[in-house]
Parts: sequence; structure tokens; C-alpha cells
Amino acid sequence: MSRLFGTNGVRGVTNEDMNAELALKLGKSIGTFFGGDIAIGTDTRTSNELLKNAAIAGLLSTGCNVFDAGMLPSPALQYYVKKSDKKAGVIITASHNPPEFNGIKVIDEDGTELGKDKEDKIEDIYFNEKWAAAKWNEIGKLHKIDATEEYINAVVGRVDANKIREKGFTVVLDCGNGAGSHVEPYIMSRLGCKVITLNSQPDGRFPGRNAEPIKENVSDLMRMVKECGADIGIAYDGDADRAIFIDERGEYIYGDKTLAIVSGYMAEKKGGVIVTPVSTSSCVEEFVRKKGGRVVYTKVGSPIVARKMIEVGATFGGEENGGLIFPEHQYCRDGGMASAAILEIMAVRGKKLSELVAEIPEYHLAKTKVKCSNEKKKEVMEAFVKNEEGNVDLTDGAKIYMENGWVLVRPSGTEPIIRIYAESKEKEMAGRLADEYKKKIEEIIAEKGYIS
Ligand code: MG
Repeated sequence: MSRLFGTNGVRGVTNEDMNAELALKLGKSIGTFFGGDIAIGTDTRTSNELLKNAAIAGLLSTGCNVFDAGMLPSPALQYYVKKSDKKAGVIITASHNPPEFNGIKVIDEDGTELGKDKEDKIEDIYFNEKWAAAKWNEIGKLHKIDATEEYINAVVGRVDANKIREKGFTVVLDCGNGAGSHVEPYIMSRLGCKVITLNSQPDGRFPGRNAEPIKENVSDLMRMVKECGADIGIAYDGDADRAIFIDERGEYIYGDKTLAIVSGYMAEKKGGVIVTPVSTSSCVEEFVRKKGGRVVYTKVGSPIVARKMIEVGATFGGEENGGLIFPEHQYCRDGGMASAAILEIMAVRGKKLSELVAEIPEYHLAKTKVKCSNEKKKEVMEAFVKNEEGNVDLTDGAKIYMENGWVLVRPSGTEPIIRIYAESKEKEMAGRLADEYKKKIEEIIAEKGYIS
């Protein structure tokens, strides 16, 4: 069976693989699977109304009532689904992808991203056209709702708002013309911040910057934080489930540092377990240990992190791409919540963001890759693991721990490549480890005569 759902829901280029027919049929499949009341929302993409209305038509045809929340951050819709006893949520978004893309993401009734078992069931309905069709007098009803106010209140209520307000922070927000545009500035102003916005008019053409908040894309924000003498800059991805921070000097803070700062704070406050994927920098584990907590590693992917957090009753969890998960709030990445938490830490600790970053141990990561056909990846990995005697962690790919760092060899889920990550406290060593393991993989491929 061809797979519909990828690692982040269903994604594709508008009016090519991501079109009205697909949205309609997926709406019918989701409605058939869940039944009952379904919430729907979108980011700011130009194709949102097209896909949303097709999905709504599909849902209504199965007898589901639809609650249309309009444009809002993904975590805001997820929070609404969780709090309002809806059976499921549907988000029309392609997160950080370029503007020509769009996607459909399904949210389970507890607000988490749908697990693979349920995705498989929806796919089965989709491909076998096992759709429920409501009778004329049982067609679902469409309701327009606002879910943003409740979300803003929830985020503000989760942090020490008074402590943050006392500080009167100046914050520059870059919403990237995305779904955070009408929400994040209000969270910040409710926390007593002076808010300066950049790219915060919703526009699905993304005229301000690319929707992915990587360093190359947020140079305007970095400059603006410095020139305005602001305390912090925050950039969101297209659907505002991820947030990336700029310190008061205008320096870009990589997501592993933010993850470490919040993880350490939570571990110190509450102890317990912090959950993160095996690819995460050791700076997180080292800092968490120092603060009295411990780290549990998972495969890469935020739904996997979220589910592990539920399983082990984690204190906190997240990914190093700026996706942070606060279990008392909800089990999904939340850019608004991440922003409020960083402000709380700055306020409670009485430190500038650059000072908080300076407390995090320094590690260096080197990345490289080897071409390998998708069919041969498994065999190559098996041969590699067999050669590596001893300490191999198989949580996701193969991670080898050594005295001066670690190496993670991981086949890409989509591209015909095997990725190699090496981390060490010394930059040179990280590079050397990456090269060394690249050679090992290349040798296996050459030995087996694989065409790569
Ligand atoms: Mg996103």
C-alpha cells in the first residue's frame, strides 16, 4: 500500500500532489474513522481555504460536526482539541516548508499528533474507499469558533507571569508571516513585554523570510534585536510550534542550547526525566545531570518524544530544532509556551539570555553523509553494526559512544543517503570522528559492491 502519511502528516505541492480531491477524500476518511465533533484550523498559506473547505466537505459528508478555528498556531488548535473534548483535529499546514507546499496533519483527541497505528487505519479507509456516507438529514454542521484566546490564557497561566511582568522585557518577534502572527505578540504583551514585531502580518507567500527559522533566514531579526537594545528576539516556524531565540547581543541561539536551558531549569525545579531524541547534543544530558535530572532518549520525531513523555511521566522534553514540549500544558511542541518559559527563566534567574547560554557546556557537532540506495540501507547498517563491537545504541540508527564523544550513523527516512553525526567537546575531534565513520560506511558499500 502506498503511504499517505509521512513523518509530519500528509505533505505536498499545492494543486499537484496536494490537491482538493486528496483533501476531500482525506476528510471523508478522517470523518469515517473518528465520527463526532472535529476541529479544523490552518496556518497562513495561500492554498489553505482551498484545502480546508475540501476537507470540511469530506468531514460533513460522513456526519461529523466541524468546528472551524480559522488561522491559528498548530499548538493552539491542539490545545483546543484537548480541552474541548473534540474527537480529533485537522490542521492544514506545511510547517516550515516553502510556500508552494501544504499539508494535512491529524490530531488525536488528547491533542497529540496522531500515532502511526491510527494513521494506518485512516489510510486503509482512504485507499479502500470505505467511507461512511451520512443520510441527508444527518449531514454534519459547520461552526465557526475562536480558539486563540483560550490558548493565550493557558500559556500565560502556565508561567510566573508576575515575575516576568516585573522585568518589563523588550521583545522582538519574527512570526515569519506565519500562524503565530496574531497570537504570539499578544502572549508577549500579556506578559508585560514591550513588543516589536517583524514579519507579523499573515501572508502565505512568506514575503519576509523563509518559514524555517534557521540562522540564514533570521538575519533581519538578529540585527533588529541588537539595534533596538531588546532583551530577546524570537522567531517562529510557519505553524508556530517551534521557536528559536536571539540573545540581547543579536546572537543566534541554536535549539540545543535552548533545549538544555529549559531542561536544566525543569530538572532543578521538579527532578525526574527529560525526554529527547538520540540525535540531541550531549550538552543537554550533561546540564540535566548537573541539575539533578536524567535523560531518556528516543527515536527522532516529536510525536515519538511526546508519547515517550506520557509513558515515563517526564518532567519535560523536546527536540533541538526549537520544538519544546511542556507536559503540564500539553503533549506537543509549542512555540508560544517555549517563548513564555524562556522569559520566565530569564526573570526568575535574573540573567540575560546570553548568560543563560554561557552556563551550557560546549560541544561541537560535525555532520556528513554517504550516498546509499534506499534498498541497500538496511543491509549496510546491519554490516556496520556487526563490525562495531561493543557499545552500540540502536535506539535510532546506530549510536556509538566513546570516551571523547559519540557518533550517530542514521539512514535518512526519505533520501538515498546515510547520515553521520559526530559530537565531541573538541571541534577537531568531532570532524575527525565524522570522517572516520564516513570512511567505514563507504568501505562497507564498496566491499558489498552496492551501487550507491
Ligand atoms: Mg512546525
